[in-house]
Amino acid sequence: MFFSKLLCGHDFTSKVAPPAIGDEVYCRLCNDYRFVTYRSTNYRAKCVDCNYGRYYGSDKEWAMRQGSKHARRYTHRVKVFQANHPEYWDLIDPRQPELSYPPVSVDDEIPY
Ligand SMILES: [Zn+2]
Ligand SMILES: [Zn+2]
Repeated sequence: MFFSKLLCGHDFTSKVAPPAIGDEVYCRLCNDYRFVTYRSTNYRAKCVDCNYGRYYGSDKEWAMRQGSKHARRYTHRVKVFQANHPEYWDLIDPRQPELSYPPVSVDDEIPY
């Protein structure tokens, strides 16, 4: 899922690919066509030590949380980065918790 912002301030979601900046898309909340102001980000969590890898849309917190769950469960290192900017990433390293973001702790396990 891709999230884009429209000029009216509303979010536009697209399942296949995000529209380009400057495209006009139909805003359901405005009932009218609006310009896309910026292209969505699409965060990806990718494990360094195994094949785990998933896209989490524009919600970085969620990507980090899911990534650190994987990191803790398997003691793997997980990178979280924007799909279109793989050169900038955050590393979740359960063996070096002081270097990880968010800090690795055992009691913030999410019950799902
Ligand atoms: Zn709108
Ligand atoms: Zn892994």
